Amino acid sequence: MLHRILKIVLDIPLDFIFDYRWIGEEVAIPRVGQLALVPFGRRKLMGLIVEVGDSTDVDPAKLKNVIAVRSQIGPLSCQWLALCNFAASYYQRPLGEVVIPGLPKNLRAEKTMALDRALKKLTKTADNQDPALWDVPKLNPAQQRAADTIACTPGFSSYLLYGVTGSGKTEVYLQAAAKILDSGSNTQVLILVPEINLTPQLEGNIRARFPNIRLATLHSGLAEGERMMHWLAAHQGQARIILGTRLAILASLPQLKLIIVDEEHDLSYKQQEGLRYSARDLAVWRAHQLTIPIVLGSATPSLESWCHVSSGRYQILELRERAVKNAELPVIKLVDVERDRPIEGLTSTLMSAIKMRLDRGEQSLLFLNRRGYAPVLSCDACGWVSNCTRCTAFMVLHKPERRLRCHHCSLELRVPRDCPTCSNVDLQPLGRGTQRLEEGLRTRFPEARILRIDADSTRLKGAAQVAFDMVHRGEVDILIGTQMVAKGHDFQNLTLVGIVNPDTALFSQDYRASERLFAQLMQVAGRAGRIARREGGNLSEVLVQTRYPNHPLYAAVVTHDYDHFADGLLKERQQACLPPYIFQALLRAEAKELHVAINFLLRAKDCMAYGGITLNDPIPMTITRVANVDRAQLLVECASRSVLQAFLKIWLVALEEIKSTAKWSLEVDPVDI
Ligand code: ADP
Ligand code: ZN
Ligand code: ZN
Repeated sequence: MLHRILKIVLDIPLDFIFDYRWIGEEVAIPRVGQLALVPFGRRKLMGLIVEVGDSTDVDPAKLKNVIAVRSQIGPLSCQWLALCNFAASYYQRPLGEVVIPGLPKNLRAEKTMALDRALKKLTKTADNQDPALWDVPKLNPAQQRAADTIACTPGFSSYLLYGVTGSGKTEVYLQAAAKILDSGSNTQVLILVPEINLTPQLEGNIRARFPNIRLATLHSGLAEGERMMHWLAAHQGQARIILGTRLAILASLPQLKLIIVDEEHDLSYKQQEGLRYSARDLAVWRAHQLTIPIVLGSATPSLESWCHVSSGRYQILELRERAVKNAELPVIKLVDVERDRPIEGLTSTLMSAIKMRLDRGEQSLLFLNRRGYAPVLSCDACGWVSNCTRCTAFMVLHKPERRLRCHHCSLELRVPRDCPTCSNVDLQPLGRGTQRLEEGLRTRFPEARILRIDADSTRLKGAAQVAFDMVHRGEVDILIGTQMVAKGHDFQNLTLVGIVNPDTALFSQDYRASERLFAQLMQVAGRAGRIARREGGNLSEVLVQTRYPNHPLYAAVVTHDYDHFADGLLKERQQACLPPYIFQALLRAEAKELHVAINFLLRAKDCMAYGGITLNDPIPMTITRVANVDRAQLLVECASRSVLQAFLKIWLVALEEIKSTAKWSLEVDPVDI
């Protein structure tokens, strides 16, 4: 029997590596990258072996033995471990928190039944892995150039595939992927999408295109059993196309040869709790580490990526035209709501445009990014408003459900019959959400088939899919939706998009608001006119209702001119010393009372001075109180990424020493300030 000392990382809030003793036969000596079940206090935890050696500083009497090593599966690679190490170090979290929670639950379980069953199933279904015969559309010259550049240039390159909506970016991904899959018998391609449930078409397209290649999806909506199968298939190289959301960037992919990040500007790539990573940024790091190409695709790239193009770090590949012949970009028009006063939220211009679509048997989409009936319920008599008792926010009126709901803490109340303070029975909804818009449209167009798609209407599993299928089958005349409908859908008969109320984002305190609004408008506008226009037919239209028709953002939207708009924003950012020209971290603190959170942050600010680092004054967050907890934040800024990183490392140690009841967390490269 042999002895070894294993250094093991565990998912506990400490950045520490633990020593355990392993005893066994020579043939079974564990390897780095294998999983091991170990005793920890009274619990048993699954850990990852990061070193196998002979010596330890731990008192032999205290050294505990490993319970079991999961030798059924091959070790995770050192490249994978390096990726996790980078993520842990960059985002300032313990390695164990990166490594362990990303593994399927069944793999971390004490019992191995589920694992063994999955492995057996996987070996049984070994399949034919020919990239196969397929019927592919002929790429247009711009697409061809892009696909060739991506797949035929060896080594690491970051490509920004900048293509207008409908320009056929997906086709470029698929054909570049086909070349990579063809280039070796076991090569793997990773495709990241913002939200898989909103892009089921893509999964279908990939399956149809590569019928003989195993595709594994990885996202939070999978059942545990599936998740385990898919993860294992990727880890063992059986799955060669991996389609996933942000969490898939941390999957084990031993033969990864190409990464694609679709809609790279999308905020869903940023994890907003725990390990607050950007999957897009990690993807670029991973591609660089593996010396493989990465493609970031978007019609409205993030300013970070745009900036990398001007600095030469990313290479731009442009698709300026829609791929389908005669499917032209829609005409975008502004409707001045001061002149054409909306009734039930809709101007007469938009009303007649909808009417015209109904007459022609075409579909309309009305975009309103606010769910519920009305954002506030109020009493004219005494001034009462539907404040949430636990948050600095209004409770939203949901009329069909007869509920007031807080969208921040999910508190729910029955709609009061009369005013809680003065008993006035005539309570007024203020403002307009999708439910109210729907109600107005039903009275105006009683004959039309109207469907609302938002988080409320699609709460049940599979409901979103059913709803989208109805639209695709042409069973809907007017579609009302939030951002859920803006992403990725290729609606075939949609020729009108009405943007009901986009103005609020123009005056947001968040300096990223205009970048986001532009992206959102372009994306939702891009749902229109995706099929070939009939001979002499009309161009599709996008009508934007606004009080500020002279705003430069709208001027850029009307001309579909992201280039100049983005250049302008970048200049402003540079002058104002904002990202991407400065690097930031955000320290958040929360407590039952605001002063406790602020006090903690003040002490955090005062505990250390460091050359090149700006520690701003702590401020309460915009929505200060959520679920009876007050929240504040402190912004850290630095012109150098590496100086910021060095500072954060020692600052974190100092923060641990501060005695306070406030809970705190640190975010590197925050996107939501
Ligand atoms: P994007 O992702 O850029 O918005 P899509 O990839 O959804 O665009 O493509 C839009 C439409 O164009 C799809 O219906 C697609 O099948 C079609 N398409 C893409 N490339 C070509 C091509 N080379 N020839 C004909 N149609 C194409
Ligand atoms: Zn009242
Ligand atoms: Zn609340």
